[in-house]
Amino acid sequence: MDDLIKKAAEDLSGAKNVTALTGAGASIESGIPAFRGKGGLWEKYDPMEVAHIDSFLQDPVKVWNLLIKDMKDVIDQAQPNDCHKGLAKLEDLGKLKTVITQNVDGLHQMAGNTDVIEFHGTFAWQRCMECNTHVETRHVDISEIPPRCDCGGIFRPNVIFFGEMIPQEAHWRSHQVATECDVMLVIGTSGVVQPAAMMPVVAKESGAKIIEINPESTLLTGEISDYLIKGPAGDVMKGIVAQIEKMD
Ligand code: NAD
Ligand code: ZN
Repeated sequence: MDDLIKKAAEDLSGAKNVTALTGAGASIESGIPAFRGKGGLWEKYDPMEVAHIDSFLQDPVKVWNLLIKDMKDVIDQAQPNDCHKGLAKLEDLGKLKTVITQNVDGLHQMAGNTDVIEFHGTFAWQRCMECNTHVETRHVDISEIPPRCDCGGIFRPNVIFFGEMIPQEAHWRSHQVATECDVMLVIGTSGVVQPAAMMPVVAKESGAKIIEINPESTLLTGEISDYLIKGPAGDVMKGIVAQIEKMD
């Protein structure tokens, strides 16, 4: 692993334009469980079913109770870990421009990254399904489920449920950024959820080097990624940043 951390530090130092694509794995060390992989929510229930827009529309009380309430508890408390901090440091050092994230927890911005594309929206806000009023999630009163707006409409998180369209602007910009980078860091994503999983493919086809960080191999490993640094995102990012600082 140490050799690959060195190699990644060299690749990043030599790059002109670096983008990171992050998935649920990047936030696991902040206490937010992923959907897939060991310890993922998948083991408890099928997120494709619970987190599907049809389930929410059919039974918002069930989805609020099974998923959204827990997510609110966990995300309200979560703090950036060494992975988020490492990516913010890379931006400070002038190495990293944009983070494309599938996460909805806002931790990249909290850590200090300034250009974050939230591919799946943000959990920081709820919106009323009737009148579109937006309220910060941490201020939503959940003493009754589902929480309701003053107009009587049900609040839903401002995220993309399975079965919903990616916001056009986020999709278009991610594509653009993926085309322009010469190194893409792919951190903590299983490469299963589309169209986010296409971004490393787009980057690769445009000539970028793809560096994966994940404790497990993924669908991208050996196919799309040039190499996989097998380990938890926090340790690996900390190691890479320390190495780059040593080189400068
Ligand atoms: P995923 O749940 O499909 O996969 C998580 C990946 O993280 C796996 O490949 C796993 O091996 C890896 N992983 C586990 N521990 C890790 C660690 N310590 N460091 C690095 N990687 C680690 O995640 P996904 O591909 O992002 O897809 C699930 C979708 O669900 C996402 O698109 C996202 O929108 C949503 N989601 C978001 C959050 C969040 O906002 N934090 C949490 C769960 C799910
Ligand atoms: Zn309303």
